[in-house]
Amino acid sequence: MKQKLTAYMEDHREDLIEDICRLVRIRSDKGEAKPGAPFGEGPAKALAEAMELAKEAGFSVTNYDNYVMAVDFGPQPAELDILAHLDVVPVSDSWTVTQPFEPLVKDGRIYGRGTADDKGPAVTALYAMKAIKDLGIPLKKGVRLILGTDEECGSADLEYYYAREKEAPMSFSPDAEFPVINLEKGGLRGAFSASFPEEKTLPRIVSIDAGLKLNIVPDKATARVEGLSAGKVQAFFEKASAETGATFTVSEENGLTRIDAKGVGAHASKPYEGCNALTALIYLLLELPLAESEGLRRLKTVDRFFPHGDTAGNALGVAMEDELSGATTISFDIFHYDPVSLRGEFDCRACILANNENFRDVVRDRLAEGGVTLEPRDMFEPHYVPADSPLVQKLLQSYEKFTGEKGYCVSIGGGSYVHHLKNGVVFGCAKLDVDNRMHGDDEFVEIDQLVMSAAIFAQAIIDLCGE
Ligand SMILES: [Zn+2]
Repeated sequence: MKQKLTAYMEDHREDLIEDICRLVRIRSDKGEAKPGAPFGEGPAKALAEAMELAKEAGFSVTNYDNYVMAVDFGPQPAELDILAHLDVVPVSDSWTVTQPFEPLVKDGRIYGRGTADDKGPAVTALYAMKAIKDLGIPLKKGVRLILGTDEECGSADLEYYYAREKEAPMSFSPDAEFPVINLEKGGLRGAFSASFPEEKTLPRIVSIDAGLKLNIVPDKATARVEGLSAGKVQAFFEKASAETGATFTVSEENGLTRIDAKGVGAHASKPYEGCNALTALIYLLLELPLAESEGLRRLKTVDRFFPHGDTAGNALGVAMEDELSGATTISFDIFHYDPVSLRGEFDCRACILANNENFRDVVRDRLAEGGVTLEPRDMFEPHYVPADSPLVQKLLQSYEKFTGEKGYCVSIGGGSYVHHLKNGVVFGCAKLDVDNRMHGDDEFVEIDQLVMSAAIFAQAIIDLCGE
């Protein structure tokens, strides 16, 4: 079977490339909703083109009102759903190899937006089904390829689909890397605030601002201070830089002293890889000889529980870890402070032991001690499929068969397309150590990797649905 599948994929290498290029040429980042195009015209066009591809390959297809399309093979309802997506993230104008929607085949790669995330893997899964059909390999149970158009902006496409159709007993999504991602942390998108009377005694902090997106560790932060000269403030920079790793600059601005902190950005699921400019700036500010005030007291509370360098929740008393999911991470990413109020947001990725009682309520009570209110929100659930389940085991076996490498399971801090499915995992299709610049400039996919992935997927379908 291995030779047969490999030979088939090699024979269809050029077709696979061309079909991926057909989809990449369609710009399908989210646009304005229109009648018949719930996520804008681009995603709807990509869906129409994918319908064509599937029909040309000889499959029956269903369009779920341009939210999602489905390609069926074998007896339905399917035993196995494969989920991929046709929408892409927006592009910048800094591409160098080719333009984002003009796919280019070069050095064994296809360059273009969506080649890796996730049009390439979507077509690869289609070719896996096509191989089984063309080779006449019998399936006892069916497989359904579900192609969505809103993965990048909240997955309202899947919500629409699963309100109408049942989840298959098994699912996988080729929207990241091999081998298998079977655990995704839960967490809390936390927000807190406080208000207080204005006090005009100097020196005082007039404003602090940092962060734009909840899931990004801020690499810059700005504060304005009144009643302390630039020279006086600067005297505190050296120690604060040594303690935090951030760098600071100072300037005069409309009678105020402006301080800018520069750190290193990172994804909020790995906050320890960055240097948080916001928490570094707060550290520096609290070293300054400021007049006591209610606002300052609240800021000290924030610093006490979200100190610079603590990305595990130690200061909050909620640090937890388990062998499967690793440690809880907390990333304090957005903050605004002015003379009468403050508001902050943090992104927590919790290990599977954390819940509303032992995590959220503890955070709430500790902040409350210092006059800061946590906004009431529930934690979101983790996602976990046991590594010894038949689904995971069979996926790993087909991975091992074609790569010759040992398969294993990986845990991540983010939520994937299958986060809300009972028995769904991420499977492929990039190599774990290849940075194919998903979401970045010059995104690419390795053609050899796709061709092998198609064979791996075909084998997986045969193993899961064939007997
Ligand atoms: Zn994706």
